[in-house]
Amino acid sequence: MKSVVVVGAQWGDEGKGKVVDYLAGSFDYIVRVAGGHNAGHTVIIGKDRYVLQLIPCGILRPKQQAVIGMGVVVDPAALVAEIEALAKAGIEVKGRLHVSNRAHLIFPYHRELERAAENARGANKIGTTSRGIGPAYEDKMARRGLRVCDLLEPALFREKAERVVAEKNRLAKGAYGADIDHGTYPYVTSSSATSGGATTGAGVPPTKIKNVLGISKAYTTRVGSGPFPTEMPDLEAQQVRERGNEFGAVTGRPRRCGWLDLQVLRYAKMINGIDSLVVTKLDVFDTQREIQVCVGYKYKGKPLKEMPALAEEYEKVTPEYKTLTGWCEKTYGVKDGKKLPKAALAYLRFISEFLQVEIGMISTGPERDATIVPPGTLFARWL
Ligand code: GDP
Repeated sequence: MKSVVVVGAQWGDEGKGKVVDYLAGSFDYIVRVAGGHNAGHTVIIGKDRYVLQLIPCGILRPKQQAVIGMGVVVDPAALVAEIEALAKAGIEVKGRLHVSNRAHLIFPYHRELERAAENARGANKIGTTSRGIGPAYEDKMARRGLRVCDLLEPALFREKAERVVAEKNRLAKGAYGADIDHGTYPYVTSSSATSGGATTGAGVPPTKIKNVLGISKAYTTRVGSGPFPTEMPDLEAQQVRERGNEFGAVTGRPRRCGWLDLQVLRYAKMINGIDSLVVTKLDVFDTQREIQVCVGYKYKGKPLKEMPALAEEYEKVTPEYKTLTGWCEKTYGVKDGKKLPKAALAYLRFISEFLQVEIGMISTGPERDATIVPPGTLFARWL
């Protein structure tokens, strides 16, 4: 049996929706393992555009089974709204959507607590979407969360909910303390989004996971606050933002834009065990004359071997760049690798050689078929 864990190799919004949709046709089960309805995975199929927040995008394929794993935190109202929106678009989820009975639930008090905590942070806001995801994970870890299985026992649920709500009312000003290991803490998501987290989040033993696919854009974006060494100057960032439509799918927030950071990708490769990499949004660089790629960091004049654990230190690193020439040609919609301009191939080769990983798929546009899968790759074997 083939099995692939798909991880974003940057700071989110890498185009996971499109890649998972592409792969979904070749797999039976598509499982979401972490996060909640803060995500916005955009999938474009022909003329239709779907933004999925909680339900795995495998649901858009006619026969596939979609699973919300126990590592996800589920807002029941958001789930029902999404099921209804899909039904309106002609997509029936009955018999194909499964929700783990161990998944934790998000309630309105989680949203209230998150908003209050963000406001209390003043200028040091983390930039969360205030959908209650972080506080729901806090409750899970503090062993006071309510789960999907509780909903199935209404009398017991009422008893437990009353107890929790009474405690929330006492706490009303609780501190925000999202937990995640590898990001630039505290500017991090509150779930475990690594391939290791995927095994607990889906309930699949690590020995059954064969491969890990990482996804990166041809550049980098970041939402909210936090260190971002390769952030572009305003004017350049604005151009990339417009060409790449870098505005949050759920919140509409403009994303911060920067050059590709191979230091970040190398770290992501190491901690996730990535053995194939997807590069999305290559077309966004179609008019770029020169392309910078970050190949290392310096801190206080000295090269850094590792990613700094301390956000305050990370804020002060200076990136070292390698400059490559752009292709100034249209790659948008190209489906055949042989038709890519030489400079685009050189850019991809540089990434692949630096990271010592194959590039299994290149995305040249938001549509399902604006995709190149080089023959002979691991990725090609999964299809
Ligand atoms: P996700 O959260 O990782 O699924 O990423 P998002 O859906 O937030 O962001 C990806 C956005 O880029 C979506 O609007 C996609 O339709 C779009 N997209 C994905 N791949 C490409 C690509 O190769 N080129 C362009 N121009 N857009 C893409």
